[in-house]
Amino acid sequence: MTVTALPEAATGTGDLSVWPASTTRLAQGDLAVGGVSLAEAAERFSTPVYLLDEGEVRRRCRTYRDVFPDTEVLYAAKAFLSRAMVRWVREEGLGLDVCSAGELELAVTAGFPPERIVLHGNAKSPADLDNALRLGVGRIVIDSPSEITRIAAALGKRDRQKVLLRIVPGVSAGGHDKIRTGTDGQKFGLSLTDGSAQDAIERVLGRRRLLLAGLHCHIGSQITEVEPYLAALRRMVELMARIRDHHGLTLTELDLGGGHGVAYRPGEPALDLTALAHRVRTTLAESCAAAGLPVPRLLIEPGRAVVGPAGVALYRVLTVKRTGGTTFAAVDGGMSDNPRPALYGVRYAPRLVGRASTAPTHATTVVGRHCEAGDVLAAGVELPADLRPGDVLAVPVAGAYQVSMASGYNMVGRPPVVAVHQGTARLLIRRETLADLSGRDIGG
Ligand SMILES: *Cc1c(COP(=O)(O)O)cnc(C)c1O
Repeated sequence: MTVTALPEAATGTGDLSVWPASTTRLAQGDLAVGGVSLAEAAERFSTPVYLLDEGEVRRRCRTYRDVFPDTEVLYAAKAFLSRAMVRWVREEGLGLDVCSAGELELAVTAGFPPERIVLHGNAKSPADLDNALRLGVGRIVIDSPSEITRIAAALGKRDRQKVLLRIVPGVSAGGHDKIRTGTDGQKFGLSLTDGSAQDAIERVLGRRRLLLAGLHCHIGSQITEVEPYLAALRRMVELMARIRDHHGLTLTELDLGGGHGVAYRPGEPALDLTALAHRVRTTLAESCAAAGLPVPRLLIEPGRAVVGPAGVALYRVLTVKRTGGTTFAAVDGGMSDNPRPALYGVRYAPRLVGRASTAPTHATTVVGRHCEAGDVLAAGVELPADLRPGDVLAVPVAGAYQVSMASGYNMVGRPPVVAVHQGTARLLIRRETLADLSGRDIGG
């Protein structure tokens, strides 16, 4: 398909600031992403469908490499994973962070070098650890004391494994309570205040087969300020100094996790990566100098900020109704492909595509088709007052924690994922069919 971009004046306005950089306006109220018309994509692949702008993913990977030149950047696979995504991330020179045997297996079978993979998880199953050791992951991040014995026991007589310890730095940050992971009282990591971090350090050092390379912390997700990262960093360097004092060991790696926030709606803040990189570098140099430590190798693990803004979800409107003073437009997907509104109360900025409307706008609440009142994509957004069944709504910033968190709720089936790049659309993950869903139910 060929598309020709139109000048702004010919197509009306509308803020595209949270859309992929490749987004252009087309005739008839349509948009193109990666050179592909959204209206045509909705027609060709049916709806709901997720588009992923390959160029935007690659551009974001490159931005991380440019902004953090001496840092190992690991993409957090849980945000979105597919074989194509694994290839893009590998080709752009990033590492990978996984948290299950499934993510690990998919990555390695898609050609990702295991030594560039880090395994996470607050409760690693025997299969997770066995696969990690069998495939030879570069690092395992230990999250609880019992893992130390398990990993040591699972290692063969001659094998050694590089490990990091996940520490709770006591820093509160993140877009919602459910994604704040930097303080005591949540399930991740080893606490500094109750002594479990210190205890775990001693136990790891007592195991010859475990090579303690450094410390890890991940304070939360959808963080838009730099300061919490600096606070966590200082705590980590203090702990590294104590480890040197008590055990005579100088750690060589420091992993600051991910959590870099993005704007989901125009005007929302996003984390400034250039400022983060600069201030992390200077704070690390200062704290290490003050503690008499060499500067460790830095690792970071962005997920959302790599893939979130590269995704666009397309839905078709099924019904429009006015009830209790609210206009509801219900679409053919919702919490089974995107549980984020129901989990964290977040809201999106959908827009009509593929039909030029001259109607005035009207405050509209866009809801999903699922049997829960919390299945709300957008509340009171301005959409054309003549919005009607059959219209296509496009939702930007749909690339992270949507498809990867999709469920079988209401047996709707999970949507396909399509890569859009340089005017071409290619199916990456096909739609889940009723046969897929019912095939697992063997009756009994
Ligand atoms: C989820 C997670 C990440 C990525 O978080 P984003 O908010 O997507 O950047 C990185 N590291 C760990 C340990 C995580 O759990």
